[in-house]
Amino acid sequence: MAGRSLADFPHFALSDEYQDLRKVVRELSEEKIAPNAAAADEKAEFPQASYDALREMGLNAPHIPEAYGGGGADALATCIVIEEVSRVCASSALIPAVNKLGTVPLLLGGSEQIKQRYLPPVASGEAMFSYALSEREAGSDTASMSCRAKRDGDAWVLTGHKSWITNAGVSRYYTVLAVSDPDGPRGGNVTAFVVEADDPGFSVGPKERKLGIKGSPTREIYFDDCRIPGDRVVGEIGQGLKLALRTLDHTRVTIGAQAVGIAQGAIDNAVDYVKQREQFGRPIGDFQGVQFMLADMAMQVEAARQLVYVAAAKSERVDRDLPFFGAAAKCHASDVAMRVTTDAVQLLGGAGYTQDFPLERMMRDAKITQIYEGTNQIQRLVIARSLLR
Ligand SMILES: Cc1cc2nc3c(=O)[nH]c(=O)nc-3n(C[C@H](O)[C@H](O)[C@H](O)COP(=O)(O)OP(=O)(O)OC[C@H]3O[C@@H](n4cnc5c(N)ncnc54)[C@H](O)[C@@H]3O)c2cc1C
Repeated sequence: MAGRSLADFPHFALSDEYQDLRKVVRELSEEKIAPNAAAADEKAEFPQASYDALREMGLNAPHIPEAYGGGGADALATCIVIEEVSRVCASSALIPAVNKLGTVPLLLGGSEQIKQRYLPPVASGEAMFSYALSEREAGSDTASMSCRAKRDGDAWVLTGHKSWITNAGVSRYYTVLAVSDPDGPRGGNVTAFVVEADDPGFSVGPKERKLGIKGSPTREIYFDDCRIPGDRVVGEIGQGLKLALRTLDHTRVTIGAQAVGIAQGAIDNAVDYVKQREQFGRPIGDFQGVQFMLADMAMQVEAARQLVYVAAAKSERVDRDLPFFGAAAKCHASDVAMRVTTDAVQLLGGAGYTQDFPLERMMRDAKITQIYEGTNQIQRLVIARSLLR
């Protein structure tokens, strides 16, 4: 140690580059995204103004590599974007998050030709990309899906449906998982395809009426003998489910970031409130009972944030223990978001329960992070599997 200064030791801290990114996204979120958040929720309307603002700054799909016209944000930078947008509007954060979810299968397994064709329009903001794995009867048990893809000469014909597809109807492109070999081995008989919104036989259902993330449309999508050319296959035939699940290892980290952002938004609002709200002749923030709640909330969020960032680094490096960390980050951060937003509503009392403040929206929005991209029970199975292997 002699003769060395602190500067010689590696820091366990975000570099200036990430800190600067956070500052830029926070400013953008507060100025251009927060003002639309309540209306997007109340009217259950896609937040086009948020999309335009994100697009203007190249943040609609920041993860797309520079080679395909994107900003080339790494997994940690993408998490910071999603976290900061979620801090004010969880629905808007699903723009970069689901563009990533939809395109990671192409990035992990797609041919150069398919990447060249589909990634640039998403990077530029001309198009959005959704991810279609779940079905009404096959949610956690994805391998039991019934959507079929049948080869017909050089083309494929898709029949069936997919359920709860985020941003369906707004997205132009969809990564769709379908059984291509009904007699093949369970889980080894699924292929991934890109389907375009104007492909013949493709249609979308009405918007689901939801508890939260109301600004992000969720719909069923239908394939009625939907015919697509053979060059729409992503990765290898029969390997689609593996590709879909590898995708989730990476994108669960972004849901963890969404959860951290929602929870941070709730804490920031609660802190402002308890400083100015007076009862018994003093600000309620003076009461130790309130302070202990705030302290617990902040500790949990900070711990979740650190876990998400470590998982993001593992996603970027594609470490072997990414499945554990992706599941742990998503599961822990979303459980924290649910607890923290519930406590934040409590700290505002009656006001927290009304739409005069964003806390009730944040509490409703937090709930989905425990459900999508695999419920938290499924995350615990993934975690336990990697322990017991
Ligand atoms: C708003 C919204 C957006 C979504 N977006 C997308 C999307 O863009 N693309 C997509 O493909 N899907 C999407 N989904 C689907 C989502 O991923 C599924 O809802 C989720 O994976 C759970 O499936 P399920 O709803 O069928 O629940 P089920 O699988 O029926 O589970 C019901 C309950 O049983 C529990 N359970 C099931 N199996 C087990 C088990 N083995 N051990 C312990 N508990 C178990 C679950 O944890 C849950 O609590 C979205 C869902 C919603 C609500």
